[in-house]
Amino acid sequence: MQLRYSFRLYPDTGQLRALAKAFGCARVVFNDAVRAREDARKAKQPFPTAGQLSRRLITEAKRTPERSWLGEVSAVVLQQSLRDAETAYRNFFASLKGTRKGARIGPPRCKSRKDARQSIRFTANARWSITRSGRLNLPKIGAVKVQWSRTLPSTPTSVTVIKDAAGRFFASFVIDTDPAADQARMPETDRTIGIDLGLTHFAVLSDGTKIDSPRFLRRAEKKLKKAQQELSRKQKGSRNRAKARLKVARAHAKVTDARREFHHQLSTKLISENQGIAVEELSVAGLARTRLAKSVHDAGWASFISMLEYKAQRYGRTLVTIGRFTPTSRTCSTCGVVDGPKPLNVRKWTCAACGVVHDRDVNAAINVKTAAGLAVTACGAQVRPGRVPAQCDEAGSHGFPSKDCVA
Ligand SMILES: [Zn+2]
Repeated sequence: MQLRYSFRLYPDTGQLRALAKAFGCARVVFNDAVRAREDARKAKQPFPTAGQLSRRLITEAKRTPERSWLGEVSAVVLQQSLRDAETAYRNFFASLKGTRKGARIGPPRCKSRKDARQSIRFTANARWSITRSGRLNLPKIGAVKVQWSRTLPSTPTSVTVIKDAAGRFFASFVIDTDPAADQARMPETDRTIGIDLGLTHFAVLSDGTKIDSPRFLRRAEKKLKKAQQELSRKQKGSRNRAKARLKVARAHAKVTDARREFHHQLSTKLISENQGIAVEELSVAGLARTRLAKSVHDAGWASFISMLEYKAQRYGRTLVTIGRFTPTSRTCSTCGVVDGPKPLNVRKWTCAACGVVHDRDVNAAINVKTAAGLAVTACGAQVRPGRVPAQCDEAGSHGFPSKDCVA
């Protein structure tokens, strides 16, 4: 299984200049590829192949006065940029044909230097390395200072350098996980749990635990709100507005980071303590149209669930998702009788059949666990195979590359 590990980078002045140049060159090659494709389409000619584009837009272009500066950056960065353009077209055509899942996507567009997020990728053959003193040595850029927030479990196969909307730099390493080491880290257990993702709490567990978002996240959210209010009061086009916008971008990045950290902590804890985990399937797209929209997006349930998914796969746990139409909030978890509808403001209710008083969310969490077939039976924990993703996918935090899940 492949995972991404991201770390903050602190380039010095010279490295900043070299990185800006590399981002710029990668962008130019990408845009030249988009234009070459577009020209071929207009002239009703076949699309140039990847090999032809590489020759024309990189090798030959370097010899022309207009593009000679392409020689000042790593050739791998340029090649990878071409590949990104190819992938973008492949996804676009797959989307047209309907063979690609998800929302329709448009044709690739030219990138701008004003884009909030810039990135370049170095593959294994790009001669990048991690120096003995722990710096990231990049070809034609130099040895950049890294803030190692955790240790890499193995040698990375590639690294992407990203500049985000808040002007921060990150290195995102691709790592192949080691199944034996993972198993040693999280031995099997016979415990199982059901999770109800609530609105008053971030999550409620079938054992009665209620989990709120941590204070560091709430504080970051408060700061973001304040920054957004300040921005809205600034005059359009003013220099103060530009400053306020950067402040919002920074506050936003802090919230995203804090939320991701919280999701990582909680998902790792749940996966480590339980062999089987049950959650309700979420239709974020469906909910987003309702009044609950804001809290759904803010709570970032989908990204939390995707973390549970890849961690379950990584550590040999079972994650079961139950259908949304199971009446988890109005079924009595004690006697199984389905009671009347329970509007969102009902926090506690008494079962008419057996008289047990239920906390709405805990009762729902127990029902999630039961519906998933995870209830502990006489013979011990009963687990059934769940839905597992093929690979952890770009969950897009940071305004980050997709595959960015840090274990
Ligand atoms: Zn009952």
